[in-house]
Amino acid sequence: IKGKIITVVGSGLIGRSWAMVFMSGGYMVKIYDNIPGQASGAITEIRKQIEELQQAKMLRGNLTAAEQLSLLSSHDDLLQALEGAFFVQECVFEDLEAKQTVFHEVENLVTESVILSSSTSCLMPSNVFSRVQNRTRCIISHPVNPPYYVRLVELVPHPETLPAVMDVAYSLMTDVGQAPVRLRKEIDGFALNRVQYAIIAESWRLVQDGVISVKDIDLVMSEGLGMRYAFIGPIETMHLNAPEGMEDYLQRYSEGIKRVLNTFGPVPDFSGEPADRIIKEICELIPAEQEHLTARRERRDQLLMGLAKLKK
Ligand code: NAD
Repeated sequence: IKGKIITVVGSGLIGRSWAMVFMSGGYMVKIYDNIPGQASGAITEIRKQIEELQQAKMLRGNLTAAEQLSLLSSHDDLLQALEGAFFVQECVFEDLEAKQTVFHEVENLVTESVILSSSTSCLMPSNVFSRVQNRTRCIISHPVNPPYYVRLVELVPHPETLPAVMDVAYSLMTDVGQAPVRLRKEIDGFALNRVQYAIIAESWRLVQDGVISVKDIDLVMSEGLGMRYAFIGPIETMHLNAPEGMEDYLQRYSEGIKRVLNTFGPVPDFSGEPADRIIKEICELIPAEQEHLTARRERRDQLLMGLAKLKK
């Protein structure tokens, strides 16, 4: 599929990231945004980032910065942006109606074989694609921020999506160096956010109930679980954590796991006095002013860059 064209619809944070990922794999990328001038502004931003990445020797793929940038173009006209594309990656606001409208418009401008892919984090395929007539070519390709360093892509089918469409999306993501996973059917939150929300919920309850501080629960992840989760998942962790593997682990620990799980509290409210307290505690550690948040985000991306290097 090399030499082929991908259209990115929406030139915000995620649209720009997808463009950089696809370009790094040698694909031609056409970026469209419905605000005139926005897509060309995105190109300026991408150029800056790609050149910085080259200097830091962190540019992905086998092409130079200049070669990658030559694959990129911006368009204020949707039809022009879609011309020649085999894959459309939608990255507009997380708004169901906006996405439904975009896919309705796009479907009317492309041929039957073009794959329609959405970046949505939380919307279900059966809703996102409800205004598309041929839903066999629709798929959600959910990235993780920032996709350039965090490679996971969740591929989520619409109930009517053809297996061959999943396969093309899977090959494309692998080809550009992402790490795709397949969900076999749609489910609210997909896999990543379901696991993430389970972690958020229990962390919140532990702080809310006065068991541990905000600072310390974050350390439980960053200095504890996170250390191995960067390389092995929870199931492999179980398998390795007993001398004879998973069966042994279950014999030794499943009663204890069930006992603890049965003490978990209800879904937190994330509001009222506990929320006020947790907001205060995190803001004492990291003030919510832009300069502090920006500095911490830059630190996060820097660390993720190092980790991505290590994982390679
Ligand atoms: P963003 O606000 O940064 O960008 C949205 C862009 O879409 C803007 O440039 C806007 O002008 C453009 N747009 C809006 N309506 C449009 C239309 N009809 N046609 C063309 N362009 C249009 O948002 P983002 O953070 O890049 O998020 C985009 C999508 O990616 C969302 O669905 C979001 O849930 C998903 N996502 C975001 C993250 C994240 O961490 N930001 C992670 C994974 C997935």
